Amino acid sequence: MMENALKLLKTYFGYQSFKEGQEQIIENILAGRDTLGIMPTGGGKSLCYQIPALIFEGTTLVISPLISLMKDQIDTLLNLGVAASFINSSLTPRQVQERIAQAGEGRFKLLYIAPERLESENFRGLLQSLSINLIAIDEAHCVSQWGHDFRPSYRHIGQFIQEIPERPVITAFTATATEEVKEDIIKLLGLKNEKVFVTGFDRDNLSFEVRKGENKRDFLLDYLQENREESGIIYVATRKEADNLFHFLEKKGFQVGKYHAGMKDRERAAAQDTFLFDEVRVMIATNAFGMGIDKSNVRFVIHYNMPKNMESYYQEAGRAGRDGAPGECILLFCPQDIIIQKFLIEETIYATARKTNEYQKLQFMADYCHTDRCLRKYILEYFGERVSYENCDHCGNCTQETEIVDITIEAQKI
Ligand code: ADP
Ligand code: MG
Repeated sequence: MMENALKLLKTYFGYQSFKEGQEQIIENILAGRDTLGIMPTGGGKSLCYQIPALIFEGTTLVISPLISLMKDQIDTLLNLGVAASFINSSLTPRQVQERIAQAGEGRFKLLYIAPERLESENFRGLLQSLSINLIAIDEAHCVSQWGHDFRPSYRHIGQFIQEIPERPVITAFTATATEEVKEDIIKLLGLKNEKVFVTGFDRDNLSFEVRKGENKRDFLLDYLQENREESGIIYVATRKEADNLFHFLEKKGFQVGKYHAGMKDRERAAAQDTFLFDEVRVMIATNAFGMGIDKSNVRFVIHYNMPKNMESYYQEAGRAGRDGAPGECILLFCPQDIIIQKFLIEETIYATARKTNEYQKLQFMADYCHTDRCLRKYILEYFGERVSYENCDHCGNCTQETEIVDITIEAQKI
């Protein structure tokens, strides 16, 4: 079975080997077991269901939340010679009927649908006419209100699965790995005897550091002075902070760009381009900056303020070093940062349960800033990975410890 999978990887997709986790996930799906794959963005989740789809008889139904993502994937598959199609709101009812009929004839190995479709009992009935062997649910955290993109229509997936007379294999994927989200996915999608795979969250070319009690502006001036040639992002908590810091650094003679949601679309697009094309090396931004940013040579990501949770932090910091060369991730912490984040929670979230949840996540973020243990281990364990070492030896806390040891040795000598 797995030889077949490897052959497909090479012949259809043109890759020589699996990425971390892919092989185990595919093997589990092929063995007919429900699977939850938790892998970071860019980890290669799509292949984990596309390869089984090619191996299984019948059709694989893929539930995917974004029309644009769906279209991208299908174009890629068609280019590779894989029969795939989609059904979403961009089609007329007539086209939908046609596609279902074609799918019924077994014309597609993969059929992508938007979750909203499943709200219609009529449509769910139509799907029953297909021979579905595998259902893949992409961005599965959308089913959970604790996730960052709760989509009520995801709640219909579980019901739909229950209605299918011969239960297909179910596999779900997400990059969000908190315990509540994981439990929600399993419960609400109705996974059975599922195996959960958490892989590949480590980015070993990134170094992590938290600096406390620093004069943040002075630190930045020194850091940017020393790294004049490098490209980097400075994340701040608010638009106002972005504006202030932008003016401050510009006055000090640094070429910087800024990006936040208060700017006009055109300004934002222009700012993004100057950064992507290296005209401006340093971008000062709020968390509005980054979705889909794939700039390879970002050498540092500095958080001028602590972000609201570890998910945001790791995603933003992870924009450093995408080319595999070293990247520095530095978080400048001060107690005021916690107050800002509490304020933002109070401002934007009303439901009590969600508020409690946001406060818990904020606590984990604050703990990250205060721990004196290995930062990498802290991050990976937060995302559910098992870590066998105590010290990674290249995060701020691990290297600081060696410094202390060195000083003691020096002191002993004296
Ligand atoms: P995710 O959905 O986890 O964010 P994708 O499925 O979009 O990730 O894959 C990210 C990128 O990695 C894609 O460009 C994909 O073609 C590539 N990729 C996937 N699997 C492999 C592999 N085994 N070897 C090399 N590249 C791969
Ligand atoms: Mg994906």
